[in-house]
Amino acid sequence: MAMNQFRRDPITGRWSIIFQEEYKIEDLISNTTPRRKKKSNGKCQLCGGFEAETPSEIFAIRDDNSKKNESGWKVRVVPDKQPFLQIYGDLDNRGVGMYDVLNGIGAHELVIESPKHNEQIYDMDLDQVQNVLFAYRERFIDLKRDTRFRYVLLHKNYGDGNDQLKNHSHSHIIATPITPARVKYELMNTREHYQYKERCLFCDIINQELEDDERIILQNDKFVALTPFASRAPFEISILPKQHETFFEWNNEYSQLAFILKEVLRKLSSTLNDPNFVMVLHSGPNVAAGKQRGYWKTIERDYHWHIDITPQFRGFTSFEIGSGFQINVISPETAARILREEKYN
Ligand SMILES: [Zn+2]
Ligand SMILES: [Zn+2]
Ligand SMILES: [Zn+2]
Repeated sequence: MAMNQFRRDPITGRWSIIFQEEYKIEDLISNTTPRRKKKSNGKCQLCGGFEAETPSEIFAIRDDNSKKNESGWKVRVVPDKQPFLQIYGDLDNRGVGMYDVLNGIGAHELVIESPKHNEQIYDMDLDQVQNVLFAYRERFIDLKRDTRFRYVLLHKNYGDGNDQLKNHSHSHIIATPITPARVKYELMNTREHYQYKERCLFCDIINQELEDDERIILQNDKFVALTPFASRAPFEISILPKQHETFFEWNNEYSQLAFILKEVLRKLSSTLNDPNFVMVLHSGPNVAAGKQRGYWKTIERDYHWHIDITPQFRGFTSFEIGSGFQINVISPETAARILREEKYN
């Protein structure tokens, strides 16, 4: 029996245990159920025609003759009805005894990615995927004008969460006055790598991966999709621009990115029985919020935006929660091959 491996992810500094004697894919996906292509039961507030059910829109891509908060839109962004954080007010950074407290200030927005119920990104035509990416960019640019926010995080919870919204394609954008811990590790590790090597860690990884060619799922001129060397979960995927770029919102290659994103999600769904997944977009931090404090001096050279997709096949074990080591039962080499070929037998 081949020995399992500890592998360190240079970006987060976390270690995973990668199985060499792998699980059967059939067992891994036995709990997944493909999203039935069913129509809305008329109760979905995200559907076209139900605009009055959501808070007033912040941004939309619409047909020329359509009006705000009416139908005729392609992508629509609205405040979340039950936001984690409130947009108005001051942070009021304070100490309570030995503890630090800030007011729950932030932005919580919903990007409604299609007026059609149950049209997922992998079903869309490429123009529509581009519209979705364009809406993401607009919101990143706008939210970063607010210097209370240090970070803007885009995330999508596919197949999970609130029942009513479950089958209608949407993402959340949350802007926070504190840099999320996960991102902070990435920022610290990439800055440290830059200090030693004067190179971007992500660029180094991309070069290594293109050379090794063991964990590449697909690529075009501008983007590459791969399974990270120390993947924390089976079929974890990263999509990165091949050219160094710090901020997602500076990217102009929408048609190429739309193609890669759609293809990756289509492969994941068709090969693995449409698993639930979490998608996050990690762009550079809000430099406008950190500059006065002398943060992010080398950010434009040391950080590189990317999209991370993590399928959810199972919960965590007590060992994983207790130790922080994650156990990955399918090696990223096998995962990349299966997604490339779209078959596992
Ligand atoms: Zn709907
Ligand atoms: Zn780079
Ligand atoms: Zn990341």
